[in-house]
Amino acid sequence: MKLIIASNNSHKIREIKKILGEKFEQIVSLRESGIDHETVEDGETFLENARKKATEIAALAGVPALADDSGICVDALGGAPGIFSARFAGEHGNDEANNALLLKRLENEENRRAHYTCAIVLAYPDGTTVEAEAYFHGEITRSPRGERGFGYDPLFVPLGSSRTVAEYTDEEKNAISHRAKALEALVLKL
Ligand code: IMP
Repeated sequence: MKLIIASNNSHKIREIKKILGEKFEQIVSLRESGIDHETVEDGETFLENARKKATEIAALAGVPALADDSGICVDALGGAPGIFSARFAGEHGNDEANNALLLKRLENEENRRAHYTCAIVLAYPDGTTVEAEAYFHGEITRSPRGERGFGYDPLFVPLGSSRTVAEYTDEEKNAISHRAKALEALVLKL
């Protein structure tokens, strides 16, 4: 069976192909599927947004579609930026501005605890879904470190580690990340 990943983020697509490769004959990105559709992410939770993306694409394409929605939730900020992680500083996907704003908001804060969340939804054209959510716990540093990863990784030190995720190799991150854990939980439900 064919599967469409409701994303054009090459980082995510590589990770998803690696984990789901044996379950589907062909896995294609949204762009490769030829579908030009932008889902309005107006849900109140990661799961609602992922469900909306996956069900819209599956209905349009007539084949199963997989979508994820993820972000970072900071305890001292009451869970913010949460579902607004990609556009925390205003402009969508400006990692440097997002990281600078997060450090500013936590300037005088001793409680640095945070977690990444990832919701993954696999939707079938008839509207049924298989869903999973997972977390990656850690703390926010006082200044960015590392060159790898993306988003908030230069600021995120996993619990029990002294390095930021941007100082991890891809393999190290993929062994414990919220996205990898959510995908693995989803595979167990298939
Ligand atoms: P999405 O593509 O709508 O899921 O955007 C999620 C946003 O959350 C990204 O732009 C990043 O800012 C942040 N984020 C999600 N997962 C990660 C991760 O693994 N590392 C760093 N930042 C992440």
